[in-house]
Amino acid sequence: MRILVVGGAGYVGSTSVETLVRAGHHVTVYDNLTTGHRAAVIEGPRLVVGQIGDRGHLEHVLREDRIDAVLHCAAKSLVAESMADPGLYYRNNVAGGVALLEAMKGAGVTRLVFSSTAAVYGEPRRVPIAEADRTDPINPYGATKLAFEGAMRWFAASHGFRAISLRYFNVAGATEANGEDHDPETHLIPLVLNVATGEGSHIQIFGQDYPTPDGTCIRDFVHVRDLGNAHLLALEATGEGDPSLEVYNLGSAAGFSVREVVEAARKVTGRSIPARALKRRVGDPPVLVASSRRARRELGWTPRHSSLEQMLTDAWRWRLAHPRGYDDRVAEERERASGSDGHERGVAASVAVS
Ligand code: UDP
Repeated sequence: MRILVVGGAGYVGSTSVETLVRAGHHVTVYDNLTTGHRAAVIEGPRLVVGQIGDRGHLEHVLREDRIDAVLHCAAKSLVAESMADPGLYYRNNVAGGVALLEAMKGAGVTRLVFSSTAAVYGEPRRVPIAEADRTDPINPYGATKLAFEGAMRWFAASHGFRAISLRYFNVAGATEANGEDHDPETHLIPLVLNVATGEGSHIQIFGQDYPTPDGTCIRDFVHVRDLGNAHLLALEATGEGDPSLEVYNLGSAAGFSVREVVEAARKVTGRSIPARALKRRVGDPPVLVASSRRARRELGWTPRHSSLEQMLTDAWRWRLAHPRGYDDRVAEERERASGSDGHERGVAASVAVS
């Protein structure tokens, strides 16, 4: 299959690219490198630097590389940022996403897998959450992902798209090549590991008065390798059947509290990791745990790496191997040295997404 991975230089995108390439697929990466990293794109795939809102450029790339299917991992994805600037999220995640759908329609590409989120459920009425449960996001991040799912559904109905939306919960871990490197970093596990390396003095625990056994939020974590495999299975599943949007939750069905994560990180790293309690962070639901039964049954997905220990061990190994995160200058020099290795710069556009 010839696959375009939009947002393929980010954490989830770059690790999925590795899985797709290993499975023998031809991959093109499209990313604006605002939060993605040039150095996260493994050798082989062509990297096109462009904006998701640039419909014309996307359509050109889809045609030029004779793309069969798209994996869409390009989104703004921080709850707190979305609360502070909802317009940014609607512009990027909804308007940008619709430009991608229209580019696909223009190029005659109708197979799409989308990286969605558990944030579409808001505060769930029951856990584990099933796909048919009520969606009622409590932050613009979740609302914009849900709005894009709505657009996908109508592109399926009106334009024959076969689309799959994968609702993830929290992603962790690393591959040999790629791991988590955000600036600013807001996610729990990388911040805990920052404290372990001495980069941070202590981890802040947001909220200790949630209705959970230890009072801290409970989250369902999936290893980024297991997510890559889910993307592969979902892309393959869009090959046949009637036009539709199918939705699958991806989680490990085992929730861990923020305190449990910090404790497990102390064990894995052998470092003390001081913690301090703070008040709740705006927009955080108390418990998010998924039922992945549907993905297991229909896609044949089995998470194999998603124990807390394995995710922390892999994330810690990557962190120790990349103490300053990605070095994009090395990647740029590598490209210059090899003349043209297929990577190219795209045209600028108005919508910034990675
Ligand atoms: N969290 C925390 N301290 C931090 C970062 C996160 O206590 O420094 C908590 C956060 O409030 C949430 C959980 O850890 O309950 C996971 O947050 P993260 O930002 O990693 O992912 P999210 O669930 O927002 O996607």
